[in-house]
Amino acid sequence: MLDTLRPPSEPLESLKTFARNAYGLEGHWKPLEGERDQNHRVTEASGAQWVFKLFNSNEPETAIVCQAEALEHIATTDPGLAVPRLRRSLTGAAASEWVIDGRRHQVMVLSYLPGAVVGNRELSADKVYELGQLVARLGKALRGFVSPAPAQRKLVWDNRHILDLRPFVESIPDNLRPAARGLLDHFAQYMKQRLAAMRSQIIHGDVHPYNCLMDDAGNFTGVIDFGDLVHATLVQDAANCIADFLQMEKAIDTVLYSTTRGYCSITPLDEEELDLLLDMIAIRLLMTPLVDAAKRSEGCPVQDYLATAGDRCLPLLEQIDARREELVNLIRRAGNFPPRKAVTAQSVDALMASRQRHMGAKPYMFYDPPIHMIRGEGVWLFDDNGRRYLDCYNNVPHVGHCHPYVVAAIARQAARLNTNTRYITDESLEYAERLTATMDKSLTAVVFVNSGSEANDVAWRMAKAWTAKRGGLAMDFAYHGITEAIDAFSPSNAPETWNAPHIRLLPPPDDYRGPYLRGDSEFAAKYAALADQPIAELDRVGLGLAATMIDAAFMTNGMLDVPEGYLHEIVRKTRAAGGLYIADEVQSGFGRMGTAMWGHQHHGIVPDFVTIGKPAGNGHPIGVVVTRPEILEHFTALGPFFSTFGGNNVSCAAGIAVLDVIRDEDLVTNVRDTGAYLRNGLRGLMAKHPIIGDVRGCGLAVGIELVTDRKTKTPAHAVVKPLLNLLRDEGILAGSEGKLGNIIKIRPPTVFKKVHADMAVAALDRALSRL
Ligand code: PMP
Repeated sequence: MLDTLRPPSEPLESLKTFARNAYGLEGHWKPLEGERDQNHRVTEASGAQWVFKLFNSNEPETAIVCQAEALEHIATTDPGLAVPRLRRSLTGAAASEWVIDGRRHQVMVLSYLPGAVVGNRELSADKVYELGQLVARLGKALRGFVSPAPAQRKLVWDNRHILDLRPFVESIPDNLRPAARGLLDHFAQYMKQRLAAMRSQIIHGDVHPYNCLMDDAGNFTGVIDFGDLVHATLVQDAANCIADFLQMEKAIDTVLYSTTRGYCSITPLDEEELDLLLDMIAIRLLMTPLVDAAKRSEGCPVQDYLATAGDRCLPLLEQIDARREELVNLIRRAGNFPPRKAVTAQSVDALMASRQRHMGAKPYMFYDPPIHMIRGEGVWLFDDNGRRYLDCYNNVPHVGHCHPYVVAAIARQAARLNTNTRYITDESLEYAERLTATMDKSLTAVVFVNSGSEANDVAWRMAKAWTAKRGGLAMDFAYHGITEAIDAFSPSNAPETWNAPHIRLLPPPDDYRGPYLRGDSEFAAKYAALADQPIAELDRVGLGLAATMIDAAFMTNGMLDVPEGYLHEIVRKTRAAGGLYIADEVQSGFGRMGTAMWGHQHHGIVPDFVTIGKPAGNGHPIGVVVTRPEILEHFTALGPFFSTFGGNNVSCAAGIAVLDVIRDEDLVTNVRDTGAYLRNGLRGLMAKHPIIGDVRGCGLAVGIELVTDRKTKTPAHAVVKPLLNLLRDEGILAGSEGKLGNIIKIRPPTVFKKVHADMAVAALDRALSRL
């Protein structure tokens, strides 16, 4: 069964004659070692050195031609890779036939690579990293190489055939035999099938310390011996090399970690491949004593390194077996995967205790008990029980949870460069261009920060600097962020105790329960007129109006669908008082309203500032202020402005990717159509459920106002929490909104489609029936 026979032993003179006649090769001859073949180094008068290889007659011609072609393939695909170059015969043949004693032998001439075999040399972590790279590079260079030969012969050294060596397990010392048998069983029952489905190609498969050359300075000078080319997995290529370089007396961790890391730096192994690597290393370590025993049993000569290999391999196998878990995790980390954690499902109670310990005793969370989310995809979220929820609430994953295009953009950029705007960076410039291209031509200046709060905070600072005034206007029950300055613009944070003497609040233009109602033809003007008095007052107390800040989706006010003229008037009045208008687009931006890219465009206004947050990076933290250049210039003249993370390459790559997806998937149109369809469906429930007082909103910002009595419009806030819990039980995530706490908020990712709207409406119907 073994293909290993003694190497030929032709007299030197015959070799010389053949070399002269077939290759025109003459020079000084020196014998080299070979496991199956008779090898010599020939140094020509010019100094050029060659290896003259007389193959074992057992070696099939096809396999030899395959080797030759593989070397020529590598010379084309990776010319810098140090492997022997083929010298064709005088007739142009890759290999030449030589009949000796009636047996057909093949001859091949290759360039001789400088250096000496690595052998027992001790290699540093850096060197084994390079070794891993070398193996990966070799694999990469062979990637497109095809040849029928490797499939036509069965190599004894091919790990996949280890079960053929099972009889020789009897040669393993008593104490290690059970472990060896266990490994063979594991191979038969598990690994064999796994390997069959993994990335495979023709591989060198045999990069060991005696096939690897180094110069005196310790630099790798090449890899030789392409006699074991097999069509097998990439894991086998990496595993064989690692196994053969492991030394018992040295820390095996360094070789495992650094070689794997080096390999993965060229060809990243996937998780399944990494998880099989240690097993494949173990198989290779077991192969060595088994092949050794097989050779002895057939009376073949055993080379020195093989003879001692068994002594090396078995204790290593024992150690690997004892430290399996730990070493599998080491390999995972080397391949950039997190270690496997023992999966002990923690109860939500235990997780909550930890949360309260670290994140405060009063957690601000949805649902009781809270949901432990594990994964997201499109409009879906998945909890720790694998339960799927239709996300009708979250606007941050604007183009869908974990959109693969955005994920890839983030990952690619994180792997290439992530730095700050004190350098010229392509991504920040492209993102600035792309964002401003969607706005009025007056808005060209961009300041990158990290959140909506920061964007508003910076816009407010700029507005004060530009106007030299100190007062502000906001909506009653607005929310604009968490900084001290912006908390003043956010009465919804603490409606009872809100106290900001420099800010005046406007009554929200609520057409369902405000002083002026739906159908009033003067609606916009009447509500806008309510700004006159606070503006005058700011003037009277000497603050003046520096800026008005409004969310065009009126989200915290209950998703009001405000007619166009209202904000137009507010902007006009603001400017007439010498103030600037900050369009907070954290909620209303990126097509949320379904009619335009931005909420201010929906309202037909051109603001002085556009502030952007939440959806911009689909979950990656991004904040942006867009303003007129003269406002930015005035501000930066007062002192330098720099945000460390603002405008970093990865955030900008995420932001650009989000803009791409919005365009490519035509999401603004989807928001318009699905939003209208959803409101229509919800309104359809009004006949059956009198508790629904109003359904309103714009695009995919939808409010369902609940009342105990449609005439008195008494808010039904007591049912909101139980209703949200019932919806959760239905697998629907929604939220609540409004100063009276009686509005159900539906504000899903913009990839929400009509089928999802149908699901949400049907679930709400059932939940309301069960209230
Ligand atoms: N403005 C509006 C309209 C918001 O809704 C929010 C967040 N909900 C913010 C600003 C603050 O954004 P961030 O949480 O990123 O600071």
